[in-house]
Amino acid sequence: MTVRPIQTFTVTPSVPPALARLVDIAMNVRWTWDRDALDLFRRLDPSLWEATGHNPCLMLGSIGQDQLDEAVADDGFVAQYERVCESLDAYMGKSVSAPVDGALHNLHASRPWFSKSHPGNPLQVAYFSMEFGLTECMAIYSGGLGLLAGDHLKSASDLGVPLVAVGLAYQEGYFRQYLNADGWQGELYPDNDFYNLPMTLERRPDGSPVKVTVDLPGRVLTAQVWRVQVGRVPLLLLDSNVPETEERDRVSSLRLYSGDRDIRIRQEILLGVGGMRALEALGFRPQVYHMNEGHAAFLGIERVRRLMEEHHLNFDEAREVASAGGVFTTHTPVPAGIDKFVPELVDQYFGSWYGRLGVSREQFLALGRENPGNNGEQFSMAILAIRLAGATNGVSRLHGDVSRRMWSRLWPDAPVDEVPIGSITNGVHALSWISADMRGLYDRYLGPRWLDASMNRDDDDRAIWARVNDIPGEELWRTHERRRERLIGFARTRLRSQLELRGVSPAEVERASEVLDPSALTIGFARRFATYKRATLLLRDVDRLLRLVNNRDRPVQFLFAGKAHPEDNGGKELIREIIRLARRDDLRHRIVFIENYDINVARYLVSGCDIWLNLPRRPQEASGTSGMKAALNGVLHLSVLDGWWDEAYRPGLGFAVGGREAYQDDAYQDEVEVRSVYDVLEQEVVPAFYDRGADGLPRRWIAMMKASMRDLGVVFNTNRMVFDYTDRFYLKSADRFGRLLANGARGARDLAAWKQRIRECWGDL
Ligand SMILES: *Cc1c(COP(=O)(O)O)cnc(C)c1O
Repeated sequence: MTVRPIQTFTVTPSVPPALARLVDIAMNVRWTWDRDALDLFRRLDPSLWEATGHNPCLMLGSIGQDQLDEAVADDGFVAQYERVCESLDAYMGKSVSAPVDGALHNLHASRPWFSKSHPGNPLQVAYFSMEFGLTECMAIYSGGLGLLAGDHLKSASDLGVPLVAVGLAYQEGYFRQYLNADGWQGELYPDNDFYNLPMTLERRPDGSPVKVTVDLPGRVLTAQVWRVQVGRVPLLLLDSNVPETEERDRVSSLRLYSGDRDIRIRQEILLGVGGMRALEALGFRPQVYHMNEGHAAFLGIERVRRLMEEHHLNFDEAREVASAGGVFTTHTPVPAGIDKFVPELVDQYFGSWYGRLGVSREQFLALGRENPGNNGEQFSMAILAIRLAGATNGVSRLHGDVSRRMWSRLWPDAPVDEVPIGSITNGVHALSWISADMRGLYDRYLGPRWLDASMNRDDDDRAIWARVNDIPGEELWRTHERRRERLIGFARTRLRSQLELRGVSPAEVERASEVLDPSALTIGFARRFATYKRATLLLRDVDRLLRLVNNRDRPVQFLFAGKAHPEDNGGKELIREIIRLARRDDLRHRIVFIENYDINVARYLVSGCDIWLNLPRRPQEASGTSGMKAALNGVLHLSVLDGWWDEAYRPGLGFAVGGREAYQDDAYQDEVEVRSVYDVLEQEVVPAFYDRGADGLPRRWIAMMKASMRDLGVVFNTNRMVFDYTDRFYLKSADRFGRLLANGARGARDLAAWKQRIRECWGDL
């Protein structure tokens, strides 16, 4: 691993004064969900928009002066520009001017939900995550966890929930995937050029960068702080690649999910401890700290230390206060996926903390152990997070159950169903994932307030979403067909360039233009190539696959995408298996693998397929969110009853594979479920799609699309999710935190003393 040179240059766009605020628009990633703003950049130069990887900042730095001058002279462009400026100002609460161009642009006028429903409430929440998926041009995410975090911020912004987020600014983006001629995955690590991304370096009044430091053994790690503006929500990203930091520690913000444990613990110290200090340095005083997965759990330790210092508390007292304001969301349903460190590594980095916190080494290590007395046990970040959070939740109802069982030993005296771990089911940020075509239908038929509807939770919501029924079937179907055609066009273009790069024959490249059929039933499967997701399950029965895809009157085609972890050869093997199969003459026109699955590829897939396929080995999928993106676009979900689908499925709004039975034998389960998925495809999916009325419309299919959009859309979105977090966790945690600290932290002292007495009496019983 190499460390990049420290960059100090920046490209300043010479934007003409008439369009000066293009820079403001580019610097607030609200453009990722404000279609008008995004179109402004695309319109400026469509090919540069593509060439920059959909990065408006880089675009403004490299666009030709003549093009900008042309835009100034274009009345239509200027009008759109002004509309976007006003909409952004209204959103940010900068003006209370009359709605622009009808009510739609006023959707998020200056008073969002939180300030209306909790006026004057001083709540402040800090949200920590190792990755954030906001837009394809910022490669600081790997997959589901990051996308969820990104969508969480966008909805918090839309709802006006006072939230500030913290993460790491990775020098190298998460890898770009490419496949060689044999279908084997290779990885490229592109540079994240912060100076040409929607990121601003936090500076002091004298212009020098704000810096935070963290002690490491015998040295100090220093980091500067970048700010990404996500609508109303600031996201702070720590960057250790500064001259004061020793070379060996700059890796702390080099690469997402390094496999090296020593680098990983330093990354997590930077995120947790450094993140706390960055918030403080910038004047944020959150009562509530939300840990999205265990990676950030060291923040709890730093918080205890600060509380001890500021309020003269002992460890137990400070811990009560820190826990009261701590929220932990776990995403891992399998013990093997939990982030752990050997005790020696913890000693190395936290040895000097034990004394300062007034605890013994054993007491400290016990914070991360299931069995405090077991000296051999590794230090688990999830257990640390659970022990320092007053509220812990899984990300679907089923995952809540699984988590209660998985962690029941932390509450040895409680029956499993009383283990205090609840669930808040994930969602997706609707405006980021609904295609522009489909968005038009929502706006037209559901009315301008349809987006606000999912968080009021009264009967009105259902009533608003029920208007999906009013969308004329033909209009819905034509809109969906247009999306499928776009997807096929995208897949062909991508396939051509992939094949060129792989160095195949020109004839084979040429044939890429003819793969797939824009009117055939299209099934999408895009996800990380981890074994439990069973990407190749359908390939177990190639004869049945051939019959399915090559049916002359009712053809079926598949689009695959997804990355394997760089060190997971098993996952790479699965990708190669698909590529090899897709090269057969009787399959090449029906199976395409799109390389480098990212937000951009996902947007095409989840809006253009007919079926979204999901085949995890139950119950290993904590929630899954791509199926929710699909549902919002009228794409039907065909999935094992795992994660969110276990609570969402009912006949008529999608398809289920298998039941809820548990299997002891994986191979047997695969065998049963491969049969089940083919049965569903042949007997339910294909007929529903291809049975057409006299008008050529698939009536049954359209009815299912509507049921899916209506009944799933209203629930499985991040507005509902963030509303739930706020209502059930944030407000209560802030309240409890405040009460424990009131009157010189009387509450905290009394509570800790009471618990101590109970523990002593318990010993006597
Ligand atoms: C939504 C999304 C994911 C997560 O989807 P799952 O259903 O959890 O697999 C991963 N990667 C990208 C690029 C996404 O858009």
